[in-house]
Amino acid sequence: MNLHFETPLMESRALSVLGNQSVWLKLDALQPCGSFKIRGIGHACAVHRSRGAQRFVSSSGGNAGLAVAYAGRRLGIPVVVVVPETTTERAKELLHLEGAEVVVHGSSWQEANQFAQTLLGATDAFLHPFDDPLLWHGHASMIDEVAQARFKPDAVVLSVGGGGLLSGVVEGLQRNHWHDVPVLAVETEGAASFHAAVEAGHTVELPHISSVATSLGAKRVCEQALHCVHEHPIRSLVVSDFSALAACERFLADHRILVEPACGAALSVAYDRHPALANYKKILVVVCGGATATIDQIRAWAGRADCR
Ligand SMILES: *Cc1c(COP(=O)(O)O)cnc(C)c1O
Repeated sequence: MNLHFETPLMESRALSVLGNQSVWLKLDALQPCGSFKIRGIGHACAVHRSRGAQRFVSSSGGNAGLAVAYAGRRLGIPVVVVVPETTTERAKELLHLEGAEVVVHGSSWQEANQFAQTLLGATDAFLHPFDDPLLWHGHASMIDEVAQARFKPDAVVLSVGGGGLLSGVVEGLQRNHWHDVPVLAVETEGAASFHAAVEAGHTVELPHISSVATSLGAKRVCEQALHCVHEHPIRSLVVSDFSALAACERFLADHRILVEPACGAALSVAYDRHPALANYKKILVVVCGGATATIDQIRAWAGRADCR
């Protein structure tokens, strides 16, 4: 049993006519809990259950935690999510909706995560939001679906936070023998930990995260993300928060789907006709989704002077 859906793959006419190239969307915003995360987390949770796990523990107040909560509910396994005090009421409400126990601890994700580790007993499974081969394996199903639809893009555009999605998509491209399909890996300014790693040649810890794209806010990417650069053609792009937010607004108007700025980052590359797309005829954008932002929040951020 898969916990994720097979999502629609469709052309965006609005984006295609903008750039004189065809732009296709993999609509993972339509997954249960609103993001691609359930692909990898659902797979990991199913594996942990088959190995006897009796409880799932997460320290993510974002889409990863939501996916764990959903997977636990579907599999009949209790879930505890430890989140820092900074977590929004909305995120806690979404976790409660999925029936998870929410424990608020500490003033940062680091503190919440450390506390989560102390809770772990012998029959508990800890679900990391991005650094786990089980996750990458599950995320790769997205590319299997694209290959089964017999649509081979000239390039794939996606967002990078901790690099789990990137690692999974590269695994998917490789297992479908699409070694020649490059990935454009997009981050926002202030959350560009993959860009910093590519520049330095090793993973780097950012001193702080300043982007509104909170789902991209991993201070350091997983080693696998950097490893992918040696295995596959990947180009790192960085866009502004304002571009990501504007893309959310335009995507809502064009496709009636609200996504987080984390997803707007990838969409902005297509909306802004980024020069990196110039050589491609068929582009696939991974619409990774995200359930934690509201339209009011996105508009408030977009109106803030420091985003311009
Ligand atoms: C988790 C997430 C990302 C980033 O994925 P990583 O695997 O951390 O790189 C991007 N967008 C959304 C909506 C997410 O939930």
